[in-house]
Amino acid sequence: MHTVTLIPGDGIGPEITAAMRRVVTSTGVDIDWEIQEAGEAVMESEGTPLPDRVIESIKKNKVAIKGPITTPVGTGFRSINVAMRKALDLYINLRPAKSYGCDRYKDAPGAKPIDIVIFRENTEDLYAGIEFEMGSDEANELRACIEELEGTAIRADAGISIKPISEFGTRRIVKAAFDYALANDRKKVTCVHKANIMKHTDGLFLRVAREVAEEYADTGIEFEDWIIDAACMRLVVDPSQFDVMVMPNLAGDILSDLCAGLVGGLGIAPGANIGDNEALFEPVHGSAPRRAGQGIANPTALILTSAMMLRHLGEGEAAAKIENAVNTVLTERKTVTYDLGGEASTEEYADALIAEITR
Ligand code: NAD
Repeated sequence: MHTVTLIPGDGIGPEITAAMRRVVTSTGVDIDWEIQEAGEAVMESEGTPLPDRVIESIKKNKVAIKGPITTPVGTGFRSINVAMRKALDLYINLRPAKSYGCDRYKDAPGAKPIDIVIFRENTEDLYAGIEFEMGSDEANELRACIEELEGTAIRADAGISIKPISEFGTRRIVKAAFDYALANDRKKVTCVHKANIMKHTDGLFLRVAREVAEEYADTGIEFEDWIIDAACMRLVVDPSQFDVMVMPNLAGDILSDLCAGLVGGLGIAPGANIGDNEALFEPVHGSAPRRAGQGIANPTALILTSAMMLRHLGEGEAAAKIENAVNTVLTERKTVTYDLGGEASTEEYADALIAEITR
């Protein structure tokens, strides 16, 4: 029996969570779900969207799985997802993009299966959310400071975001990518960056990545790097050339959605946030508010996320059962949700997976 913290989230979160739980149960793995609500729903009753009890539960159980949580755009509370990653120092954002029969360009000439694993640094970069509001005392002070140091004036009507990238943060994410490649018989690690323009941040990331690659030189794992614009073009033209990819936070955020699109969309893109002590599994997609409450959302991303979680828990056989069932049902295309061109409800699709798993 495993005890796992379960955060259903909001929007489509509760619907896809219910489907995921039924699928996991059908594998025969016994899980005690410790349910923790977070987000807007608890804001009023508990005065914060992320009560301490949520973090404490994850610290206790070491493993958590969550549905998406809405972040108000522009105003309101800051992202709970970012706050959780920070609170638990979950520095690895692992996002696989694998063909399950739904590749966008599968009929294109020369198309090959996709099997990419993105390692996105999860704690630094512009994504750390260190920002100064236009016209605030802090922004004005910073502008004055930059003008003195750089001789360049930032306009008075500019907001300012800070992009920190450290040697420490880079080294541990690149090492994680290489260790994953070694453990999973992967052949190549690709570093993605904009080092030609941002020399002291992405340039540092690339330099440290090259140093780490040197340390793994005798493993036979190939190392290469691409500037992000070229990497995007290559991903669209021939994604099969990529294997494990490692990159700073914002680049990883964007490229992993691009890769999700290549293999069929956000509805089937799983993910995990991993630190030295805890792991928080969550799909790439958000709360899809316009689809919430209709029972039509695609639960595949969360279900594949649960397979990643099962593997982390040492339940590799159950994980493989889920992945094989997803492959069969999606390739057949008889029972799929609206986003994949079908008419199945969330529950009907989960039923089709369960029938495969228990066959
Ligand atoms: P989104 O991922 O919710 O939706 C983007 C598009 O994909 C929409 O058309 C949506 O209908 C569709 N989609 C997403 N998941 C789907 C699924 N499982 N099945 C079928 N269709 C699906 O992104 P968004 O609209 O930019 O964000 C909505 C909210 O989610 C925002 O508040 C955002 O901050 C939040 N968000 C949360 C997380 C998270 O909790 N980790 C991640 C991303 C976005």
